Amino acid sequence: MPDVDFCVVGAGFAGLTAALRLQQAGRSVVLMEARDRVGGRTYTENLPDGSWIDRGAAWIGPGQDRIYGLLNEFDVPTYKQYVDGESMMIIDGKQHRYAGTIPWTISPWATTNLGVGLLKVRQMCRSIPLEAPWTARKAVEWDQISLAAWIDQNLWSQQARDMLDMALAGPYTSAASEVSLLWVLYQMASGGGPDFVVSNKDGSQDARPVGGMGAIYRPMAAELGDALQLSQPVRRIAHDDDAVTVCSDELRVRARRVIVAVPLAIASQISYEPMLPVDRSFLQQRMPGGAIVKISVVYDEPFWRADGLSGQSAAPGSLATLTIDACTDTGAPGVLCVITEGPTARRLGQLEESARKAAVVGELVDRFGERAGSPVSYHEQNWALERYSGGGMISHAPTGVLTQFGPALRQPCGRIHWAGTESSAVMCGWVDGAVRSGERAAAEVLACETASSAPA
Ligand SMILES: Cc1cc2nc3c(=O)[nH]c(=O)nc-3n(C[C@H](O)[C@H](O)[C@H](O)COP(=O)(O)OP(=O)(O)OC[C@H]3O[C@@H](n4cnc5c(N)ncnc54)[C@H](O)[C@@H]3O)c2cc1C
Repeated sequence: MPDVDFCVVGAGFAGLTAALRLQQAGRSVVLMEARDRVGGRTYTENLPDGSWIDRGAAWIGPGQDRIYGLLNEFDVPTYKQYVDGESMMIIDGKQHRYAGTIPWTISPWATTNLGVGLLKVRQMCRSIPLEAPWTARKAVEWDQISLAAWIDQNLWSQQARDMLDMALAGPYTSAASEVSLLWVLYQMASGGGPDFVVSNKDGSQDARPVGGMGAIYRPMAAELGDALQLSQPVRRIAHDDDAVTVCSDELRVRARRVIVAVPLAIASQISYEPMLPVDRSFLQQRMPGGAIVKISVVYDEPFWRADGLSGQSAAPGSLATLTIDACTDTGAPGVLCVITEGPTARRLGQLEESARKAAVVGELVDRFGERAGSPVSYHEQNWALERYSGGGMISHAPTGVLTQFGPALRQPCGRIHWAGTESSAVMCGWVDGAVRSGERAAAEVLACETASSAPA
């Protein structure tokens, strides 16, 4: 006999949501989380002065209705990202200040080329069927080439290539040569296209929860109460005709069904008995995470705002590749967030801690002036070193993977069901996608159990 109705593995937003919805449906559930905290790739740190920083995911945007649904459910207000003032693009060592999304001041040649590139990407995204991107008319052609190859073939200005590479490969936090063009188009299309991905206002960095992501995941965890079991890395899942047995080193839970809500590469580290079907097993072996270092540099005030700067800057290839204003809703203290991704993040991670800080703060001084050299505190998070994330921001499919193994993303394997942002057809890769996947998986296991208990 099962001990509980359902077991959920992984307490990121996908697993938390799945467990909560099952509990709300009146079912018994155990949620097993490897770390001693919930949140997964979201991680809010409260600072001594009462403010907070988000070491992982931070931003939300329009259309992300399911994360907004949770915010409403737990009465968490939001505030808009600060977007006033000019942004900065640093190309070949030269600083260009500009208003809007496209850095028109660099060179008409490069920016026209960038605009044409974005237009083509926008058009290609429109032809992707979100529930089954592997069935797109040009799926095979697009899955055969990397994003880097497409950029080389379609853009003629090196500056435009560098900018598009940074903007589009960024979310996958791997070299553009590693990522399938079809995966990039699918992931962007799932959020509504490239404009949503790269924009602050009305885009994916439009707003933030007051109190950070922790303001949502903490009450979710509290509501789950004893159902949540922290510090329980699941090692083995055995399934038979009647139930599943989910084992960590200390716990053994027998449940009717299990929802596995961990990143794909990490899911392949669990031992499954009997073995998973080949397509699911190979999918998990083929969807890696990338490298990303996210640094919050805290100042007594956001001094860049008075200089007419938004705090947003981009310097392809630099150790402090992207910056963005990451202040709380009150605007105090001043927080500049530095995001470095892909091969550059790996380079940054290899430096000694003091050299890393010196390199990053030095870049900020070059961009924002001497005051950037005197932070109150400095907080860095290297997601490539996180055992239970396997990198960040999201997993990606290299060439050939989506067309061959894509259907296995959501297909249950007997009593094992799958959640996690990468399994969401809408907002795939965002926190909102994680919430959607948790709700979908919860509905899935409930429907299976209702069907199996129906009289013959
Ligand atoms: C630096 C960074 C910035 C980002 N910025 C944004 C942003 O601004 N906006 C946005 O929407 N998204 C952003 N993202 C992406 C976002 O964080 C993810 O889409 C989302 O958090 C994924 O949630 P998930 O529940 O699918 O997976 P995860 O959050 O990875 O949760 C998986 C959970 O499973 C646990 N786990 C792993 N292995 C085991 C095991 N064997 N047993 C038990 N538990 C296990 C993990 O500890 C983790 O808690 C960012 C990500 C990063 C890393």
